[in-house]
Amino acid sequence: MERPASVVKELLENSLDAGATDLRVEAEAGGRRLIRIADDGCGMLRDDALLAFERHATSKLRDVKDLLSIATLGFRGEALPSIASVSRLLLETRSPEETTGTRIEIAGGRMLRCEEAALGGGTAITVRDLFYNVPARRKFLRTEQTELAHIASLVTHYSLAHPAKTFLLASGATQLLNVTPVATLKERVYQVFGSQLLDELVEIGVREKTLAGPAAPEAASGPGEADEPANRTFRLSGFFSRPQVQKANRNSVFVFVNGRLIRDRLMLHALSSAYYNLIPHSSYPFALLFLECDAEEVDVNVHPSKTEVRFRHGPFVHDFVRDTIRERLIESRPAPTFTPGVRPFSAGAQPAARLPYSEFSQALANEEPAGRGDGAAEESRADAVPVPEPAPADGVESAPEFSLRPPAAPAPRLDFTGTPLEVAPGPPPSGKLRRHLDAHGEFPADALPPPEMSLSVLSELRPLGQIHESFIVAAGRDGLWIVDQHVAHERVLFEQVMKQRAAGRVEMQCLLMPLIVQLTPEQQIDYARIADELHASGFETEPFGQRTVAVKSAPAAIGAANVERILFEILETVEGEPAGTSLEDLRRAICASIACRAAIKINTRLDAGKMEWLLRALAATDCPMSCPHGRPIAMHYSTREILKAFHRI
Ligand code: ADP
Ligand code: MG
Repeated sequence: MERPASVVKELLENSLDAGATDLRVEAEAGGRRLIRIADDGCGMLRDDALLAFERHATSKLRDVKDLLSIATLGFRGEALPSIASVSRLLLETRSPEETTGTRIEIAGGRMLRCEEAALGGGTAITVRDLFYNVPARRKFLRTEQTELAHIASLVTHYSLAHPAKTFLLASGATQLLNVTPVATLKERVYQVFGSQLLDELVEIGVREKTLAGPAAPEAASGPGEADEPANRTFRLSGFFSRPQVQKANRNSVFVFVNGRLIRDRLMLHALSSAYYNLIPHSSYPFALLFLECDAEEVDVNVHPSKTEVRFRHGPFVHDFVRDTIRERLIESRPAPTFTPGVRPFSAGAQPAARLPYSEFSQALANEEPAGRGDGAAEESRADAVPVPEPAPADGVESAPEFSLRPPAAPAPRLDFTGTPLEVAPGPPPSGKLRRHLDAHGEFPADALPPPEMSLSVLSELRPLGQIHESFIVAAGRDGLWIVDQHVAHERVLFEQVMKQRAAGRVEMQCLLMPLIVQLTPEQQIDYARIADELHASGFETEPFGQRTVAVKSAPAAIGAANVERILFEILETVEGEPAGTSLEDLRRAICASIACRAAIKINTRLDAGKMEWLLRALAATDCPMSCPHGRPIAMHYSTREILKAFHRI
């Protein structure tokens, strides 16, 4: 039992396993002194309640076979005994089958009291003085605020996994989370985070994919199992953020596999790959992913705190998750709006949603599985796709300040909310004055385009001009657009070059004179490694003496003057990359370099025809929302926002 949040996790999971629909958590003083979880689940019979504190005495699994397909969140029968051994614990429970309930008190693992009590249905467990008898462990508790933040993050995320249930989290007199049952995940996301975050998310819907091919050999090998093949359909649902939401660490990524909150590198990697070339390398999205599959497809018994899983068909799951998210991202072609995408959560968000997620998720990630070196854990990596080490997350050690105040909203990147011509901005006038002002003309309500705009409207835009000879300003049916000309062109070229490369038809130009490029010893090694791919991408090179190469031709898109720079840039990108870097990643990196160098620069005057061409070409790309390095391309100021700013609606 690592820390208060782990206690809450175990107790919450027990309540969920018991079928509770109403879960109330109280965590006082950072959970150090008191954690109480009350549920309306099935409760326990007196004898079972006693048994629950015997290690491994209870089991939700009926036979050994069940171990291969664990459907409950808990299964080891360890949590209650270990919590009871390091705290003062009070259990109050009543099963509907009994008229009186049971109250059991344990301190440091010793039973102090077991008596009948008049209790309502369900179970309440109160844990006090965690680690009071293990001073060495107590010292390692973080600050109370930090511990509370972990707990809040945890309860929040279980609440997201169960929209139909009530969750209440209180700390003293403060309610950190209070959500009542709703029908959909979307409503729950709204309850927890408010409307602003919801606006920045794309809903996956339910996407599924069935693993084709013969049943895995293990599945068919057991006697009597051959005739009951597992259902190998994987289902993915949830939400992920549009590319303009860019987080500095992975802490806003939440993954549930069959209802279990986990940190899984395979899933994290799949998510990052989906955003490849859409957000910067060092950024992470917000994501709430629910993967459902047959229990046999996932081994949950590989980590002591059950936070990691091992997929039987890891590569399949990885590609399914990556491709689904990527497809949805491309389908939704989301346009960033001027509402600053950097504000983490809107005013409507619950206090718990504003807590730093970092600490808890970090804690999960840092909990080293005891058996990391053992065969099972190793194997789980081996059968997965190569997954790079997770990047160090921000603020791992610095404990976040827990504050109930919403964080100050950072300044919007482009602020149109100020209305410079208005002398005294105030609330919109009402009554007679309003009618008078309305003589300015009612805006026909049906002229308003639907609020959900996609970037496909780019092709209909009318360019009005440039700002700083760098940004195209354009008017459309749905408002005003500003497009970064360099990154827009970069996206167009990138997709064009990628397509040519995929078809093996890269346009090349012969250089008048071969370009002689001098390499360092490291570059020489990198060069040798990627020479074939370079060639296929349009760089015809050949070794020319010691650490020197001669470039004879280059991709047609780039000017001869840029060839050397691009070559070095590509070598820099692959420098130090593990030898196993996928060919696909290398190809993308090369195409991104070519596109970046060849694209129209900022500070370049464009005539109307060029601007129009660029907007049309951008609209025709697969991902018009961000450049291959992940920067946003177009900003949208909707008619609705313009009308709001002028008090017309
Ligand atoms: P596990 O969840 O691995 O079975 P735990 O130590 O977490 O083991 O819990 C022991 C047993 O206590 C559970 O198997 C369950 O039968 C019972 N139990 C614990 N919490 C509850 C609860 N809130 N409602 C009903 N039964 C519970
Ligand atoms: Mg349990």
